[in-house]
Amino acid sequence: MLHIKSIPAFDDNYIWLIQNNQNLCAVVDPGDAAPVLDYLQSHKLELTTILVTHHHNDHTGGIEALRRKFPSVCVVGPEVSPYPRLTHRVCEGHKINLFNHELLVIDLPGHTLDHIGYVGDGKLFCGDALFSAGCGRIFEGTAEQMYHSLQKLALLDEETQVFCAHEYTLSNLAFALAVEPHNVELQRYRDDANQKRAHGLATLPSTIGLEKRINPFLRTEQAEVMQSVATRVSNNNPLSTFTALREWKNEF
Ligand SMILES: [Zn+2]
Repeated sequence: MLHIKSIPAFDDNYIWLIQNNQNLCAVVDPGDAAPVLDYLQSHKLELTTILVTHHHNDHTGGIEALRRKFPSVCVVGPEVSPYPRLTHRVCEGHKINLFNHELLVIDLPGHTLDHIGYVGDGKLFCGDALFSAGCGRIFEGTAEQMYHSLQKLALLDEETQVFCAHEYTLSNLAFALAVEPHNVELQRYRDDANQKRAHGLATLPSTIGLEKRINPFLRTEQAEVMQSVATRVSNNNPLSTFTALREWKNEF
């Protein structure tokens, strides 16, 4: 099994560190090198691999400094990424062997056009595509692309752990509860997340099963969700509901 640790960065980013049974590790989306180098040094770890989900600077800004310290590190990232310092470019269907575990690459356009995710060993690293109780803003793609990306994630095994790149859970939950005020599991999760944050703990990882029960962006076929956006859409299909939800969240 792969062991995962979170390294907080900036205000609300998580850089996920994946460790094998010895002293080798990978990191996902190192926007800042300093907290990663501190962690590696204090735990005596060697960095072999960097996984990149998309080109934004808060996910890639630390790569150059990490490569200076670990010149042979593999930097895996999206085939169509404008980010230039990748050593291995991958897209949907590619498989990566990480410490004898297979990670499958899936394309997740929407937040950016180059966005990908990595799935394996019961874990999903999804960058800024899916957040707990929310999803990424649509900067480069279309609402339709983002909708289909999230639908792909909804098909993963319910037990899959979701490692997203930001601690946005509480603010996402405020919006989710505005959309579905009567969702009892959502209320319970809000209380649980409040407790965790009050103790300085991460709310992540989530799971695909939990997200399907509480994340409005994965619940566009639910009556209460459709009802909440009824005045914002002309026809009641899941894509229009998703689009209206995303626009509502932008101004929430
Ligand atoms: Zn981003």
